[in-house]
Amino acid sequence: DTSRKADIGLIGLAVMGQNLVLNMNDRGYSVAVHNRTVSKMTDFLQGPAADRSILGAETLEELVEHLSSPRKIMIMVKAGETVDTYIERLLPLLEKGDIIIDGGNSHYPDTERRTTLLESKGLFYIGTGVSGGEEGARRGPSIMPGGSSQAWPAVKTLFQKIAAKAADGTPCCDWVGTGGSGHYVKMVHNAIEYGDMQLISEAYHIMKNLLGMSCDEMARCFDSWNRGRLESYLIEITAAILRTRDEDGSPLVEKILDAAGQKGTGKWTVVDAAHLGVPVTLIAEAVFARSLSARTDERQRAAAILGDTAPALPDLNDSEKARILEDLEAAVYAAKITSYAQGFMLIREAAREYSWEIDYGAVAGMWRGGCIIRSAFLEDITAAFAENRELENLLQAPFFSGIMAETLPSWRRTALRAIEAGLPIPALSSALSFFEGYRSERLPANLLQAQRDYFGAHTYERVDRPRGEVFHTNWTGTG
Ligand code: NAP
Repeated sequence: DTSRKADIGLIGLAVMGQNLVLNMNDRGYSVAVHNRTVSKMTDFLQGPAADRSILGAETLEELVEHLSSPRKIMIMVKAGETVDTYIERLLPLLEKGDIIIDGGNSHYPDTERRTTLLESKGLFYIGTGVSGGEEGARRGPSIMPGGSSQAWPAVKTLFQKIAAKAADGTPCCDWVGTGGSGHYVKMVHNAIEYGDMQLISEAYHIMKNLLGMSCDEMARCFDSWNRGRLESYLIEITAAILRTRDEDGSPLVEKILDAAGQKGTGKWTVVDAAHLGVPVTLIAEAVFARSLSARTDERQRAAAILGDTAPALPDLNDSEKARILEDLEAAVYAAKITSYAQGFMLIREAAREYSWEIDYGAVAGMWRGGCIIRSAFLEDITAAFAENRELENLLQAPFFSGIMAETLPSWRRTALRAIEAGLPIPALSSALSFFEGYRSERLPANLLQAQRDYFGAHTYERVDRPRGEVFHTNWTGTG
């Protein structure tokens, strides 16, 4: 029946778009689709989408024609100018009340700008993070929508139906807030993902180089961690990766070039954190660790001059080894808590700066399933925010402060061992320093202020005087 209108339109039939369309269709929604390269659409319609209520549209006019009102059109293309081009082409075809949804990894200022543009024309805009890769898109991703709040009721049911579900059945999708807040939360999600991956990689480096563990041994260790408090998708796939063999039967991971790529969400997060003055140190180190890794040729030359730091393996008995691994697990856990605390510090500051009203517990809740950072631990974060909506920082929640007190000695011992062995642990060590600073009543910044006043007359406040009262000293006694 060609007269029947589709529930939603989707532009961009690459990996994410195709799988989202099939997911929507599984949940009973009819979808009209469009793709720049028509042959890819035809392949999709004749292949995975055959015998489903999925309509192809060779032009945008046709796509709009296929949709019931208010029209909902989701754009799932390469982030950047392509999104603007589609918006410009759609605008003359749409009517007041229609909704454009961008589900790509757009930068939040673009989403802010596009939301304002569409609202000025009587249309609505939703910029949403979608996480979980191909599999997530197909079976249920984590969806983080923000933008025109009036448009949320029109898409809420669909979004929550196609989203992953947390263990308690709650959809991993809720309204984040106005403007670019959805894409902001997705950006921080991706940056936290960088941090989690870096922490796991540092643990692997320690296991391999300090403890001399084989890939199979490491896989068993990550398996056991995955049965405890570190239970998460990334730990699970790490164990699977360590078990995977190359054609010659040796571990594949050891044949992979140690040069990490990045697409930009980590960098955006660090730039914005610097702009807002929020110390997301673990994420920053994770981004820079990728940058350092990518300089493979330079590292080869430096290794020849500065010496390979790979330590000789100490002779450890089984119980010593087990104790070191126990410390390592606790260290990774403590650093991970610190990283998430930093991430939420950033979201909180961004909400203040960009005037978004964000429910932090709901954000943690959306990350519990479907996405790359899904974990058991996010249940505890959700609970901590549910217990106290005004919570200043995760590290201050009773549950987490208790864990920090318990794990701190292990974290310090782990860092010491790695440093003594000459192993780089940028994430583990910088987060430890952050934590030690965060819990310090007094930091050496008094000296910094004195220096600033000495050379630049920048003035300082005094501990024995009210805040806001400033002093300047003539340090050299001249002038
Ligand atoms: P992608 O490789 O980022 O983009 C390919 C799609 O964009 C194709 O439909 C392509 O059309 C279209 N496109 C690119 N340049 C275009 C142009 N100048 N004009 C018109 N169309 C253009 O696809 P993806 O991996 O499925 O990702 C889609 C979005 O989701 C991206 O923003 C991505 O960052 C985000 N995302 C991806 C993942 C993932 O795991 N892949 C996860 C979460 C979010 P043609 O077929 O005609 O080339």
